[in-house]
Amino acid sequence: MITINSKFPDTPTSIFTEMSQLAIQHSAINLGQGFPDYPMDPLPIQGVTKAMEDGYNQYAPSSGYLVLREKLAAKTLKEHGQSFDAQSEITITPGATNALFTAIATFIKENDEVLYFDPAYDSYRPSVIAVGGVPIAVPLSYPDFKLDIDLLKDKITPATKMIILNTPHNPTGVTITEAALLKLHDLLVGTNIILVCDEVYEHVIYDGQKHLSPLAYPQLRERTVSVHSFGKMFNCTGWKIGYIIADKHLTEEIRKVHQNNAFSTFSPAQMAIAEYMSDPDTYQRLAGFLQMKRDLLMQSLKDSPLKPLAVQGSYFQLYSYEGFSLMPEKEFAIWLNREAGVTGIPLSALCEQFGDHKLIRFCFAKQDETLKKAAKRLCRLGRSLHPPY
Ligand code: PMP
Ligand code: GLN
Repeated sequence: MITINSKFPDTPTSIFTEMSQLAIQHSAINLGQGFPDYPMDPLPIQGVTKAMEDGYNQYAPSSGYLVLREKLAAKTLKEHGQSFDAQSEITITPGATNALFTAIATFIKENDEVLYFDPAYDSYRPSVIAVGGVPIAVPLSYPDFKLDIDLLKDKITPATKMIILNTPHNPTGVTITEAALLKLHDLLVGTNIILVCDEVYEHVIYDGQKHLSPLAYPQLRERTVSVHSFGKMFNCTGWKIGYIIADKHLTEEIRKVHQNNAFSTFSPAQMAIAEYMSDPDTYQRLAGFLQMKRDLLMQSLKDSPLKPLAVQGSYFQLYSYEGFSLMPEKEFAIWLNREAGVTGIPLSALCEQFGDHKLIRFCFAKQDETLKKAAKRLCRLGRSLHPPY
């Protein structure tokens, strides 16, 4: 047996894999991993079939089909008032997780420090470690989870080479304010720190808010690597297709990694999406659609001991069980899955420093019937169903 000197001795199996497996094992309703249980629009499915029939079955150009990148350039100009060159500043990737890894591998060398708010999407830390960097998780304040740039400011050292910002934020659902983005600009101007902005929930934003991207700020865009996912835009998380927008001088470097870790992305989906996204309503309707689901779950749980925290964007809402049970988050999530038949994600699984605040994350990107059924089960809490402590 060979001996492996693990690079990731403290990286557990992803909580999404673990909880989805538990959901299957206990036939629970899975509000854990973030994926819709309703069907995607059939149009892009037909588009993929057509693209295959039309012969788009070989490698796409490494940075993606130009027809798709041109659509993305036009969209970005319209939404953020900034013009990006489709040829040299937009790259199609096999999903956002891959795009994030590519960005990190491109710019982070041994012992470089990467800052990100804690809690966080769980790929950031292992991706930084994989390339020899040092992940620095910066805990958000509780209970407001404000994306507060002053928290980052205190952690910047000469070794800081990258900040990863995620807005709307998974798992808290908070969004960045204009004042915070301007503060970030002031903090970074004159430094060589790269800003990776994970914007996968850009169209999943509620209560009339508008998504703010650092791409919109000329002095921030020169250092910004903006990461997106079509999985979230078009209810097809399993398609694993996304893209990166970054100024030419950044994209040139990014493509040196992209061409060697992916080379290119699934051809037929690129053609189908390019056609489908001509109508902006295909992604603009997402916010209203999901806001109704957020509100349905909240309303259906109002008589339960689970108390919702405010959410401004994303697929997720945190619910507090403080005062109802003393169980630690992970234990509570496993108990809830087994006894109540509803799966959530314990917040602590997405935290490094943040601590255990008795919070569980539910994904409400589900059919109304699924949400109602889950809520019915959860309303048994404190009535016919009691936690051990
Ligand atoms: N970033 C965040 C914040 C996410 O929640 C996710 C999961 N959807 C991703 C990135 C990864 O997206 P993809 O499925 O396109 O890899
Ligand atoms: N982004 C999704 C979530 O937070 C899941 C991604 C994954 O399974 N890796 O639930």
